[in-house]
Amino acid sequence: MARDPRFDPLFEPLQIGPVTAPNRFYQVPHCTGMGYQRPRMLAALRGLKAEGGWGVVCTEYCSIDNSSDETPYPSASLRDDDDVRNLRLMTDAVHAQGALAGVELWYGGHTSSNLLSREPQFDVGSLAVEAELSPPAQSVAMDKSDIEALREMYRRAARRALEAGFDIVYVYACHYYLLHNFLLPEFNQRSDEYGGSVENRVRLLREVIEDVGEIIAGRAALAVRYAAPLPSEDDDPQELVAAFRLLADIPDLWDIASSDYNYEMGSSRYVKEAELQQAVARLKALTTKPVVSVGRFTSPDTMLKQITAGTQDFVGAARPSIADPFLPRKIDEGRLEDIRECIGCNVCYAYDMLGAPLRCTQNPTMGEEWRRGWHPEKIDARHADESVLVVGAGPAGLEAATALGRRGYDVILAEAGEEPGGRINNESRLPGLAEYARVRDWRLGQLARMANVQIYPANRLDADAVIELDSRHVILATGARWRTDGTGRHTTNAFRGCENEQVISLDALFSGDSPHGRVIVYDDDHYYLGTAVALMLSRQGARVTLATPEFRVGSWTRYTNEYSLTSKALADAGIEIVTGQRLVAFEPGRSFFEPVDAGPGVELEADFVVPVGAREPEGELWRTLQARRDEFEAREGLSIRRIGDCHAPGIIAAAVHAGHRAARELGQSETSVKRDRVVV
Ligand code: ADP
Ligand code: SF4
Repeated sequence: MARDPRFDPLFEPLQIGPVTAPNRFYQVPHCTGMGYQRPRMLAALRGLKAEGGWGVVCTEYCSIDNSSDETPYPSASLRDDDDVRNLRLMTDAVHAQGALAGVELWYGGHTSSNLLSREPQFDVGSLAVEAELSPPAQSVAMDKSDIEALREMYRRAARRALEAGFDIVYVYACHYYLLHNFLLPEFNQRSDEYGGSVENRVRLLREVIEDVGEIIAGRAALAVRYAAPLPSEDDDPQELVAAFRLLADIPDLWDIASSDYNYEMGSSRYVKEAELQQAVARLKALTTKPVVSVGRFTSPDTMLKQITAGTQDFVGAARPSIADPFLPRKIDEGRLEDIRECIGCNVCYAYDMLGAPLRCTQNPTMGEEWRRGWHPEKIDARHADESVLVVGAGPAGLEAATALGRRGYDVILAEAGEEPGGRINNESRLPGLAEYARVRDWRLGQLARMANVQIYPANRLDADAVIELDSRHVILATGARWRTDGTGRHTTNAFRGCENEQVISLDALFSGDSPHGRVIVYDDDHYYLGTAVALMLSRQGARVTLATPEFRVGSWTRYTNEYSLTSKALADAGIEIVTGQRLVAFEPGRSFFEPVDAGPGVELEADFVVPVGAREPEGELWRTLQARRDEFEAREGLSIRRIGDCHAPGIIAAAVHAGHRAARELGQSETSVKRDRVVV
């Protein structure tokens, strides 16, 4: 198929200083959790983005010196010649596809851990180190010799960037790292020529830009990543705009981000597509140089609008390029319905925050390009003309059926419920989670075009039915039930009174039970569900208390960048929060808690309790089939496998990955992991 000509503006080349981008699709710097530690994994990932049509593909933030690190988060690195060789792998992979490679030169500051280097952080002043994992420490207020040393680090790194083959070299001046902090009056209290007036505060950034510019002149483009002030921010917008004016036409490209990560990297619960664009337009109007920015663009029309309306010159993307590395190609080939849209869950970001390679809820191949050799658009043909029965059409079953269908197997997908979707059907109805439905809908869209896959909703299969269907392979994806006994990550014992009928399971809630009056949501799961359910019940008119044995509500959501805006939403809804308390008993009217640490327990009024904790794998079918294994034994080659929540309850991304993996591994004698580290 050919591309719709109205999207032509997205495919026009554009010059950036001395280099030319082949189109307007620009993968901005984004973390991978791979960085300097996993150069081959990283090169495979970035090369794949270029293959998918991204005209510019950048590294993540790239440390310029061994005095700056964010351990345990592995940044990229250009600290020495070994790093040059490592990053060459990436630039070669990107260039092989005709794209430009960009590197984001970074120096940390008081927000960085330096746990690897053991060096004190340098910054604009003696500031308390904010890195969560750092012991109490303060940065060194840079003197003139430190400033000169920093400038030299940038110069050296710029030379290495050229050696490594980069076409675009960034100076990174946002997200509260060192160069950003010099711009901000709240941090910059200096009385020398680097502090005070805006001209002085911008001096260091200007010097670094000029230093790097001199070195790369004529060979690579110079980009600056800068924070656009948002109306919601505490930073004085005028300050950042005034500083921008002073530099507006110096670099070859502006990459406009935001210093409020809650918005730039906002979860879809609170932040929708193109959220930054007003703020971007304000800075774009002040420069003649090309501008790139992000907005979790998943709609080709919204992307097009950014270019035709002149809000920005490149469609910047991190998450949309993770969920679908082939997004540009699909637009180019007129295959819009094949675009796998990001759901804005931020699981990708969470894993980097945990110091682990990224993964994606929508795209199970992300991060597995080198390790397992997975390609999002290519999959081996079926190993034999055989049939597969997939039982359960939640995320795991849907993904398994989709990937098996692509391989060419005859697939039956049986689902007990009226509609395929499993947990997605329930969770996407919770406040803010509508985009989660894309996990189901993209797969159903793909399956609808596969003649070899039949979906049978409203078909609960038992062991007899499975055996009768006589498929060569059976994949069980039957999910899990929410437990009602309050057990979870902290709570190992059931609470007294958990069998009471005013204890409502999440499954019952999703099926229509609506507790009212005083409702305790007891969250021992710590991800998004507890808070989302509390918000839903509050909207339905219940007086909700969200209680948790953790010391923050939805504590894991700080990795997915949902935490702050969730706290605000809970406060706005008037939901009472009780932390550090374990549920021990319930009787209609009252619930009793004991402290996780020391101190008094609490007693709360409660008409209903909704526990959000552990789940019970739906394992009956698996167990029965195992017990009747001899009935299968006669059938040579038959395989039975269980995947997703019925095997090990987890997050949606894990279920999708399990489904994909089962499909890839069918007919293979070995696990699909080929390599997971570089061995010297
Ligand atoms: P996962 O996240 O592992 O995909 P879900 O709970 O989202 O798990 O989905 C499991 C699906 O399996 C649900 O839609 C459920 O209705 C379905 N299911 C469970 N048991 C059976 C069964 N015996 N036959 C058919 N479908 C089943
Ligand atoms: Fe989007 Fe979630 Fe995938 Fe990240 S993990 S790219 S937010 S779908």
